[in-house]
Amino acid sequence: MLTVSAIKADIGSVGGHTCPSSRMIAEANAALRDAVAQGLLVDFAVTSTGDDVCLLMSHRNGSGHPDVHNLAWEAFTRCTGIARDEGLYAAGQDLLKDAPSGNVRGAGPGSAEITFDEEAPERKAEAFLVFTADKCGPGAVNFPLWAVFTSPLYNGGLMLPTMRKGFKFRIIDMEHAHGDRVIDLVSPEEHVDLAILLRDENRFGIQSIHSRLHPEQQVVAVSTDRLHTIAGEYKGKDDPVAIVRTQGIFPAPEEAVSPFVIAPYVAGGARGSHTMPLMPVAINTPVTGPYCLPLVACVAYSVNGDGVLSEGVDVFGNPVWDNVRLKAQQKGEWMRQQGFVGAAMLPMTELEYSAFRKSLDDLEGRFRTLG
Ligand code: MG
Ligand code: MG
Repeated sequence: MLTVSAIKADIGSVGGHTCPSSRMIAEANAALRDAVAQGLLVDFAVTSTGDDVCLLMSHRNGSGHPDVHNLAWEAFTRCTGIARDEGLYAAGQDLLKDAPSGNVRGAGPGSAEITFDEEAPERKAEAFLVFTADKCGPGAVNFPLWAVFTSPLYNGGLMLPTMRKGFKFRIIDMEHAHGDRVIDLVSPEEHVDLAILLRDENRFGIQSIHSRLHPEQQVVAVSTDRLHTIAGEYKGKDDPVAIVRTQGIFPAPEEAVSPFVIAPYVAGGARGSHTMPLMPVAINTPVTGPYCLPLVACVAYSVNGDGVLSEGVDVFGNPVWDNVRLKAQQKGEWMRQQGFVGAAMLPMTELEYSAFRKSLDDLEGRFRTLG
């Protein structure tokens, strides 16, 4: 069996929440290189998306392995030390606990992992996409993944014999703090039930998707931790990472990325408090725009039977996405024109900075009932 693990965290960034420093990225590479030398990992790639560092690791330890998670934590801790040394913004922000108990889930970083049989006859070659998003939450991929895995409008491949039987979704209640509260729903029969839940991107997220034709084959993993559920207060947006396996019995990469053409409005942006469009960007793109458009990057990889990763192809870095970027910026400007009113900002329950709640509390105390 082979495992690909993508573990991502914001542990400090240059000049605000733009991007990690080059020394931090070098340190993360050094930590993972050591782990390859020690035999814990087979291979790895380090990327950044906005202010988040993503560690992509291939290994044979299975999903959720304490050694791999501790390695990621250790790498992030080393990077945090550099961020502090350099005086960077929000150093160690996503490291919410002193040390995780063998799993970074619930400790701050986001993790997405898939374990598969690299010799399965239905998977002659292993191709996958890694989506890394910043300035938004795990629900930002609710619509794109629902569209790709339930709707032939976005994915004509669903009509093929390999995918016609559909997929099994595991949806998690991200507001539930103690233990995973989940529900399994299948497409195509329950695609409306999926929509009923997934429309609430702040509460419900897709944790995993499996093939129904080959039930042991997991096609999607998404990080679905919400930092405010963990910490009880706003600690930065829960910028998600997702792995989507592609080709053959799964959607093709070009199908998997098709809903991102819409640049859907999602919860996020400046202070994690706004409704803004999700802009597809090249990997390693800093956040520099007005009100921080939510960003998503996508890198395509192959991995061979030994677990060695190919070079990555920067899917959203291609000029064919330039038009979507312009559209996202335009959609962002349209929304920003109405400032703080109505749909422009998130509902009060989602305005996670405690300062917002405090401001409201101050005014609540001044209300009086007449008559
Ligand atoms: Mg941040
Ligand atoms: Mg971030």
